[in-house]
Amino acid sequence: MATRAELLRAREELHIAIHAAEEWQESYKANPDTFRQLLALEARLETATAEYLHELAIRAPGYVDWSKLPDPVKADNGPVLNNDDPVWRDEAALLTSAVIDIITDLVATGAVAGEALYGYPAGYAAIEYANLDEAIMDAARKHTAQLVSHATETTRKLIRESVAKSIAMGEDVNQATERLMNVIDNPIRARLISETEPVNAYQTGLKHYAKQTGAKTKTWDGLSGACQICSPLIGRTIPIDDLFQLANGRELDRPAGHPRCRCSLIYDY
Ligand SMILES: [Zn+2]
Repeated sequence: MATRAELLRAREELHIAIHAAEEWQESYKANPDTFRQLLALEARLETATAEYLHELAIRAPGYVDWSKLPDPVKADNGPVLNNDDPVWRDEAALLTSAVIDIITDLVATGAVAGEALYGYPAGYAAIEYANLDEAIMDAARKHTAQLVSHATETTRKLIRESVAKSIAMGEDVNQATERLMNVIDNPIRARLISETEPVNAYQTGLKHYAKQTGAKTKTWDGLSGACQICSPLIGRTIPIDDLFQLANGRELDRPAGHPRCRCSLIYDY
């Protein structure tokens, strides 16, 4: 029988094949090496996130004070450990260590793709070299911190909701624990993270390259079949540090504009 690790590797290969066929904006594909790298890192991020959630599902019941049940959930947190409880710091540290190398490689891949696309030398040549760039590592750390803080927040919310539902349904602790573990061990959540964050991280690296080599403006580059959120931005050019405004009012420096966004930017010098 295949081990879990073998199954995960097989899934990564499948992920690369499926996602290569998606509607990526052309500039992602312009350099086959960095495109392949982007897809491989996306697959690795999905595995790392799914594995983290799989293990978190075992720890999560320990983050609920079951002795407080079956009182109705009144306070914000209900029987779930407070936001400032040290367990959340530990969870954040675990998720950080699971993803930070992958996020750093994604930022570096964006920078290397920039060098391949625009041709102004920045001394990266390969992600191993780009990874030595202090600003790229710094950007990757910030990006990871944001991702982790958002994911941990979502975890707390999911635990609260799961416990509240168990109370509403009159479940006992065993049933409630089983429900909670199923809610947390959710491969769809891992996929959503892994289909959005790589574009964010890659675009962070691409922008770093563009700034370093003196680009002045940026133009939103998307596929005409893209979602309604991004399509009004296609072709819009603004100064490099200005923000694009999406139809929903959100302001952003670069894609991803929404979950699974595959838009890009063209930098002008
Ligand atoms: Zn988009």
